[in-house]
Amino acid sequence: MYYIGLDIGGMSIKGALFSKNGDILERGTLKTVTNQDYKIFVERLRDLCLDMLKRQKLNQKDLIGVGMAIPGSIDSKRGVITYANNIAFKNVPIVKEFQKHINVPVKIGNDANVAVLGEMHFGSAKNYKDIVFITLGTGIGTGIISGGKLILGKAGAGGEGGHMIIRFNGEPCTCGRKGCWESYGSATALIRQTKEAIDKNPNSILAHIANKEGTVNGKTAFDAEKQGDLVGAKVVKRYLRYVGEGLVNLVNIFRPEIVLIGGGISNEGDSLMRRIQAFVNRYSYGADNKTRVLVKKAELMNDAGIYGCLAMFLEN
Ligand SMILES: [Zn+2]
Repeated sequence: MYYIGLDIGGMSIKGALFSKNGDILERGTLKTVTNQDYKIFVERLRDLCLDMLKRQKLNQKDLIGVGMAIPGSIDSKRGVITYANNIAFKNVPIVKEFQKHINVPVKIGNDANVAVLGEMHFGSAKNYKDIVFITLGTGIGTGIISGGKLILGKAGAGGEGGHMIIRFNGEPCTCGRKGCWESYGSATALIRQTKEAIDKNPNSILAHIANKEGTVNGKTAFDAEKQGDLVGAKVVKRYLRYVGEGLVNLVNIFRPEIVLIGGGISNEGDSLMRRIQAFVNRYSYGADNKTRVLVKKAELMNDAGIYGCLAMFLEN
């Protein structure tokens, strides 16, 4: 018997066919088309599933369930995408629609929430029950497990740590407020901060790296810092402070045993984890006399979502 996981992102949709032991037997991808009629969107998901099954000489009768990780507010109980701004869906009954094509149990969840379940069952957070997971990517996604339970809130709309204000009246955010954590700590924000530093310091190593590569990305400032550039180092230092301040807010509220860092920025690896760890050690509430909170890279990386789809079936 088999499961399918579908990780629906703003750019692409990743699919995986799992054996019941959790081995990935097949993979498939689709390009995400936004502003598409949801019925057509679901037909494309169906085709992706059927294609993976066919390649393993299986059919839909062999499936036990399909899990979906979706960005936005997801009502898992009703099987509805309440609001997903980057795929432009509002109140889409995706489970009901999907089951018209493939009639198996379908579980859906917010992408960061699904990813933290993936890490808890298959990745860096095995054997932990209090976990804060953050992804530093286009935005900041957060998935929080407290006492072994995922924090969902009413209609699954909670757990949006990226949209807490860390700077009053600060940078505008896509959610409509100003000064959200993701407007300072996401990869998108780091790129903006890097570009501002380049404009002010056109002769820096940072500016030379950007010119040579013809682009600025989430690595540019880190690369400049490694080459001894003071401008790059300053950008990184300030950026890590933004990341750290928001993270310590979450640590103080939820007091996890472990913090997992995912998303593109986490590719900076051990040295980045050590710096975030030092910030958390220093600034967490009661840091002197409490057990330390472990900071680790999320090891499943891009597969956390699809493993999480399988994990949803292992929950409760
Ligand atoms: Zn916001």
